[in-house]
Amino acid sequence: LIRFDKVVKRYGDNTVLDHLDFSVQPGQRVSLIGPSGSGKTTILRLLMTLEHVTDGVIWVNGDPLSHEYKGTDLVKAGEQHQREVRKKIGMVFQQFNLFPNMTVRRNITESPIHTLGVSRDEADQRAAELLDMVGLKERIDAHPTQLSGGQQQRVAIARALAMRPEILLLDEVTSALDPELVAGVLDVLREIARTTDITMLSVTHEMQFAKDVSHRVLMFDKGKIVEEGPPDQIFGAPAEDRTREFLHAVL
Ligand code: ATP
Repeated sequence: LIRFDKVVKRYGDNTVLDHLDFSVQPGQRVSLIGPSGSGKTTILRLLMTLEHVTDGVIWVNGDPLSHEYKGTDLVKAGEQHQREVRKKIGMVFQQFNLFPNMTVRRNITESPIHTLGVSRDEADQRAAELLDMVGLKERIDAHPTQLSGGQQQRVAIARALAMRPEILLLDEVTSALDPELVAGVLDVLREIARTTDITMLSVTHEMQFAKDVSHRVLMFDKGKIVEEGPPDQIFGAPAEDRTREFLHAVL
């Protein structure tokens, strides 16, 4: 479903991703772990086309996301092409990023109506279902400022799912939350993992969560994957010193 093919990302002299190769199969849940600055968030931002590759190609469902075909040549993708491929992808950010001047309902229904052309009735109904799933059915007419951080993040999850994405990107979604609100958000994500076959890519510092929901864990350092495998292996019997050091520091 997703394939990074020798992807390089540089900011000036700083090589953030260094010829990165990896694939994610449909329905797979993958956690990206590793020290701060190792390039994990950049991977999600490239998939959302918030950033662009310096070199290499990113494929989503056999379509090049970062590039498009002109005849038989692959050239850097234009805005229109990226918008089309991006429709398959939903993202939840560390800082929620809800629209503060809109109700919860409109936060969730705005994109399906305007981007996918869904009718208002259908979008409203789906918003109600999703809010029920994240435990916030009663808050549909609230404004984000009336909600706790954990509730806002659960709305952000509902908003991402309203676009019926094939891929859900989660960028340290609990790092900005007060500790007592973290569990509620992780429970919602566990439930989504249990009840859907959505492909999930999650950058996380919550190792227990990574252990519980992931099929695969990728350990990053300095823009490269130093080790990857099922959670039992990465957390239980890591092969690389770098992974052991990292886990020792965070656990
Ligand atoms: P963290 O857990 O701290 O978010 P990370 O592994 O997600 O770390 P990235 O956020 O991907 O790391 O950042 C990797 C490197 O890219 C860092 O050195 C960062 O300073 C640099 N970087 C990220 N965005 C930019 C930017 N817009 N301009 C310049 N450098 C950037």
